[in-house]
Amino acid sequence: MKAAIIGAGLGGLLAGAKLSKSGYDVEIFERLPFIGGRFTNLDYKGFKLSTGALHMIPHGSRGPLAQMLREVGADVKIRDSNPMAVIMKDTGETIAFHDFRKGLSLTKRVKLGTILACSLKFKPKSNISFKDWILKYFDDDFLLKLADSFCGWALSLQAKDVPAREMLEIIDNMYRFKGSGVPVGGCGVVTGALADVIKSNGGRIHTLSCVEKIITDNNRAKGISANGKTIATDIVISDIGHLETSRMFECGDEVYLEKIKKVTPSKGIKMCLSSDEPLLGHSGVFFTPYAERINGINEVTNADPTLAPPAKHLIMSHQAVISDDLNQEINLGLLDLKKLFPGKKYEVLLIQSYSNGWPVNRASSGSDIGNRTPLCNLYVVGDGAKGKGGIEVEGVALGVRNAMKDIGV
Ligand SMILES: Cc1cc2nc3c(=O)[nH]c(=O)nc-3n(C[C@H](O)[C@H](O)[C@H](O)COP(=O)(O)OP(=O)(O)OC[C@H]3O[C@@H](n4cnc5c(N)ncnc54)[C@H](O)[C@@H]3O)c2cc1C
Repeated sequence: MKAAIIGAGLGGLLAGAKLSKSGYDVEIFERLPFIGGRFTNLDYKGFKLSTGALHMIPHGSRGPLAQMLREVGADVKIRDSNPMAVIMKDTGETIAFHDFRKGLSLTKRVKLGTILACSLKFKPKSNISFKDWILKYFDDDFLLKLADSFCGWALSLQAKDVPAREMLEIIDNMYRFKGSGVPVGGCGVVTGALADVIKSNGGRIHTLSCVEKIITDNNRAKGISANGKTIATDIVISDIGHLETSRMFECGDEVYLEKIKKVTPSKGIKMCLSSDEPLLGHSGVFFTPYAERINGINEVTNADPTLAPPAKHLIMSHQAVISDDLNQEINLGLLDLKKLFPGKKYEVLLIQSYSNGWPVNRASSGSDIGNRTPLCNLYVVGDGAKGKGGIEVEGVALGVRNAMKDIGV
């Protein structure tokens, strides 16, 4: 059986590794000169910056991505963060993430415990947002700000944009798989190791190969055409989201076309800083609920010093984009950094913004519509088709797992 994969991002490579390990003849087509998409390293002045991700795997060595990497035999070491995360309060003090309840009154703490225990079992059926869910039960400023900070960091959204149902799935997974981790060598090591697995199983990866068309016959994908050549295959996997995929063939399924209109990408801004001294001093996430724009910061060199030149630290901040004025968003983020690290010396290495065709998430959390398409042997993977409750690359892994189950591998 032969599989063609459109795009060599994490989703395409994970699917390719799984299929090639199961005996499929895999051929991957990537339009760029390099593989990895938004999950690979960008070397700059001796720092390992990245094309997208902040070198963090949300559930670390115990999560769905780590499990899949082990399953396919990808050689990746993940160092779990310790602590998982800390929160900066309005007073400037920090508390451990698992102690966030300490920011609440005793009555609210008891209520939160009860409601969370029930809600994790009985997820809300309505489309209530996470913000409205908090307002309904708590109306607490600290919780609302923490929710925005968490959603901004992990999903590049505000709490008002995330369905409570999806957020409760995410919280469920946080209890199940626990906290984050950093792949040793950065996110490029993950996609590089997957490419090695594919090649060792006889698969081929072509860079500078843009797929222009999916060839169809009688509601089936028959192959793809790339760089003017047609390649016949038994299945096609697309790592470029439902919308872009639907533009590659004549799709007459109005219900599907209506559904994919509702899939919205999420926008974000990442800032990479260099410092001679540690600004955080730990490898977990530093949540900043009281900052104007920055949602969270990490200092990955505490987990893997090789991500920066000797005696340097690599610090990365992330913020969801709130207004249409990108310059203002960036300036507010830079101002936040000054306030968060008063008197500290750091150099801004790079500021990157992400939206539309190169977003933080192709389908913002809660807007995913699954892996299937109107063609029975065409599947979408990647962050345009994440699995339920999966934060970013964990969602990519859960989505690939669902697609593979459907295919039968
Ligand atoms: C600022 C930022 C920070 C992030 N931080 C984290 C983090 O710390 N942890 C985390 O878990 N996730 C993080 N993410 C999300 C994570 O990077 C993405 O979810 C993940 O990399 C998406 O992988 P993908 O395979 O779905 O898509 P992509 O990486 O976009 O891969 C798709 C590939 O398809 C190629 N392609 C497109 N069209 C064609 C075509 N016609 N023919 C051939 N090839 C084509 C593209 O060039 C690309 O290489 C972050 C993202 C951003 C932007």
